[in-house]
Amino acid sequence: MKKDTMGFKGGFHLLDAYPLSVCNIIDEISSDSTPETFQFPVFGQTIKHVIVNLCPTEPWALPNWVILKHKTIVFFNIIKEIQKTYFSDARFYLAITEKEDRVVEEARNFAGGEDWIRVFSLSAKYPQDDPVILTKIVLGMDVNFGQDTKLFGILILDPQTISTMHEQGIMRKDVNSRYLALSGTGLRENEIIHVELGTSVEKILKNKVREAVPFRVFINGPLRGKEITDFSQKIDWSVNNIVVLEEKNRKALFPMFKADELIFTTNLIGESRRCVYCNFCDDICPVDLEPALYYHSYVRGEKHKARLYNMGKCIECGLCSFICPSKLELQKIIIECKALGKHE
Ligand code: SF4
Ligand code: SF4
Repeated sequence: MKKDTMGFKGGFHLLDAYPLSVCNIIDEISSDSTPETFQFPVFGQTIKHVIVNLCPTEPWALPNWVILKHKTIVFFNIIKEIQKTYFSDARFYLAITEKEDRVVEEARNFAGGEDWIRVFSLSAKYPQDDPVILTKIVLGMDVNFGQDTKLFGILILDPQTISTMHEQGIMRKDVNSRYLALSGTGLRENEIIHVELGTSVEKILKNKVREAVPFRVFINGPLRGKEITDFSQKIDWSVNNIVVLEEKNRKALFPMFKADELIFTTNLIGESRRCVYCNFCDDICPVDLEPALYYHSYVRGEKHKARLYNMGKCIECGLCSFICPSKLELQKIIIECKALGKHE
């Protein structure tokens, strides 16, 4: 089944704008203490739908080839074993980025004679792989941002979790490490690492950051991940990538249009300007919200009023802040206003 950007206006092709080249020699990094073991997921609910997310849309995310190892059929057979062993009543959906046409074709050939699995070839436009959008496009179901999809019988798994469930649950091998993508202008090079769980960010970045360069570190990307300043933080299973961005000491005009330079959410040097009513933020929002409206309510001191305009639908993708030429921190304002509702 060919599905493109149905039901999904806005968004941005980050992979086209910021193509990253990654060194394909995989560095092994061990923890200084006993590594933690992958915790096999326990499901309290009946799972009816399993979406395998093979559609990364962020340039800094772990690419599919790291797990598939160019042996796609082997991976699909692993999915089949997982389905038989753990989810025999569930239907499976492979959401694959359309750019990887060989993987899509092999998936279609594999799924051709099977009635428990379907293949979706999706645009890699960010944030196509967000759970809210993925669930809507693949299953036609509405879930809210932050809601646990398992409550609806839906499980979304990335390829690394699939392969580890197989290794630990079926092959009976303990897994205590995972693959991570390391990238960004603050590093000597972009690379994939294989790291023991429980290793600190500090140890991972040792000898990898460019010398004499001020930098900022983001876990799971600068758009919807989180910035960290405490590098003793340890790697757990939820960490897919680490981005290290050089902090420039000069202003960058229209940084979001500079290809090859991941500088867009950095630079804390007072670049914030007035809203110029360009509407870029409204146009790029993938869930059809009006971030500029929230911003203007906020600066007028009407935080509660801002929440009235469907703000709860915001999936915190960060695109409005990313695209704003005035570098206004729209996403941060939205998160602050949404939190007001939780405390009432
Ligand atoms: S962070 Fe929210 S408001 Fe901003 S573009 Fe994303 S979904 Fe829209
Ligand atoms: S992108 Fe920024 S400057 Fe443009 S309308 Fe939105 S808030 Fe205003």
